[in-house]
Amino acid sequence: MSITAKTKICMVIGDPVNHSLSPQLHNAGYKALGIDNEYIFVGCRVTSENLSDFMKGVRTMNIRGISCTIPHKISIMQYLEEIDDTAKKIGAVNTIVNESGKLKGYNTDWEGIVIPIEKITSLDGKTVALIGAGGAAHGAAFGVTQKGAKLQIYNRTPEKGLEITRQFGGESFGLDEIEKIKNADIIINVTSVGLSPNENETPLPKEYISANQVIFDIIYTPYETRLLKDAKEQGATIIHGTEMFLQQGIEQFKLYTEHDAPVDAMRQALLNTMN
Ligand code: NAP
Repeated sequence: MSITAKTKICMVIGDPVNHSLSPQLHNAGYKALGIDNEYIFVGCRVTSENLSDFMKGVRTMNIRGISCTIPHKISIMQYLEEIDDTAKKIGAVNTIVNESGKLKGYNTDWEGIVIPIEKITSLDGKTVALIGAGGAAHGAAFGVTQKGAKLQIYNRTPEKGLEITRQFGGESFGLDEIEKIKNADIIINVTSVGLSPNENETPLPKEYISANQVIFDIIYTPYETRLLKDAKEQGATIIHGTEMFLQQGIEQFKLYTEHDAPVDAMRQALLNTMN
């Protein structure tokens, strides 16, 4: 279908942004639903110093949806008329919807963590260990505690883990105590350790992983990280980072288009980019 002057623009912003797979994900969804004349999704590099000017442009150009990634998830909040309660609790926004000039912020990252886990097992009463305490850890901590899990955080800088457990409950440890992770039911890597090109790195020694655990690595480049390969060898159940990326995108898709997302087409488009 053809793009016209009525086509609504959605975009991902970040610095850098070239690596983002959001355009492929969303455009595949528009195509599958036959609404690719109504919506188009692009990417735009926006530096921190240009964010304020960019947000004026969002209003003047009536851009429909903004997905934001590093480094804008917190700083962008000051430009919005409204922030939904969940995003406020997490303290970050990754999704902005423009409703006739009124900009409202949401966070869909936490659903990207919780929904893939709940397809495998309930979170209620489980011990969930997060390795890492950065931006993604906040959404993960909110999501898993909201679903009744007990939280443990292991981070290189223990104070950052403590900040999160003060807000969401649970225990925080330094990496020198990571052996305790053996008792966790679900382990989520929310560090950048293992991210391409450092594909040989892992945040967790293999011997601490066992067959009865679920291991979720939110890194999706490479598709299968060293942590996930080790976990497979130990007989654990694994969840790929693409599932988080897909799910947070599905929730954004609903907010931007008010249509249910065509999940299979969007997953396939994402997996196609991995080959
Ligand atoms: P961030 O805010 O920069 O946090 C990075 C975390 O990694 C911090 O806890 C940091 O520890 C830890 N870390 C970094 N290098 C380390 C090292 N060498 N040894 C031990 N710990 C180290 O990043 P983020 O936004 O939370 O993102 C984390 C990862 O998730 C990134 O790789 C990102 O690509 C991925 N991600 C994936 C999705 C998805 O949709 N699948 C969504 C968001 C993010 P300190 O606190 O000690 O610095």
